Amino acid sequence: MELIFGILFIAVIITWCVYNRNKAEERKKAVELQNQKIDFVKSNSQCLYAIKKLNHNYNFKEFDAHPRYRRNCNSKTQLDNFDIYNHMLLTIEHSPNYFTGIVKAVKYNRQKYSQYEQQFNLTINKIVSGCNYCKLTANSIIEADEFKSIEEVECKKLKKDAIRDFTIELIVCYRSPRGRNSYKRTYKFNCHDIERYLNDYNQMQQNKQSAVYQRQLMTPKMRYKILKRDGFKCVICGRSRKDGAKLHVDHIKPVSKGGKTEESNLRTLCDMCNLGKSDAYDPYGLN
Ligand SMILES: [Zn+2]
Repeated sequence: MELIFGILFIAVIITWCVYNRNKAEERKKAVELQNQKIDFVKSNSQCLYAIKKLNHNYNFKEFDAHPRYRRNCNSKTQLDNFDIYNHMLLTIEHSPNYFTGIVKAVKYNRQKYSQYEQQFNLTINKIVSGCNYCKLTANSIIEADEFKSIEEVECKKLKKDAIRDFTIELIVCYRSPRGRNSYKRTYKFNCHDIERYLNDYNQMQQNKQSAVYQRQLMTPKMRYKILKRDGFKCVICGRSRKDGAKLHVDHIKPVSKGGKTEESNLRTLCDMCNLGKSDAYDPYGLN
């Protein structure tokens, strides 16, 4: 009796093993066939060829899309009063080419990528509409529909990516001397933010340059012309040299704020009135 059970048990085991081996072989064959099909599509697909060609024609700019910087403060007060706007302007002043470069690269990539995507989709749509797959013969290992679906999957795998934005992370931190307390603040800037900073920075540079130039235009001849026009009197209080006033020629809109050295922006002021005015300027008020 025991012997019969033993034989039966062994027979079951053997059958199970053979079954499993056959299953595994079937699976292996199926995978092999699928690979053959994929290879067939890869070597015969006009769409894949078109996508490879397209990829070859489109090269996007590469750069670090997530740079991180750290700035340590010497005290908690310094951290609390951290002026991020001025800090960024100074950082940009330190390396304007780097910042201009990454903004340019992002814009380039965005523009090129949208062209690329358009052409990529056009090619993929050719698969969907079925006008571009190769001629299959009767003994081909694959059917037209299968060809199409493999083609689509393989094409999509080849889709390129490009950096189309970036995030600059600035971590400002302070750590108390014994390390008991640490504080940090994180600021993030994307392409749009950096572009705004760059504009402000460029405007500042222009103002600086223009200020130097405008001051150069203030010649003794121009000075005399304005004093004469205003009757050698302060246009605010009316005092003149006879009253002991020292006369200045003043820029109504200061050169530091983009004011120009031209007659309409110049006037005679006495030292007292000019001192009170300093470089204050109200674009909508009396100056
Ligand atoms: Zn005056």
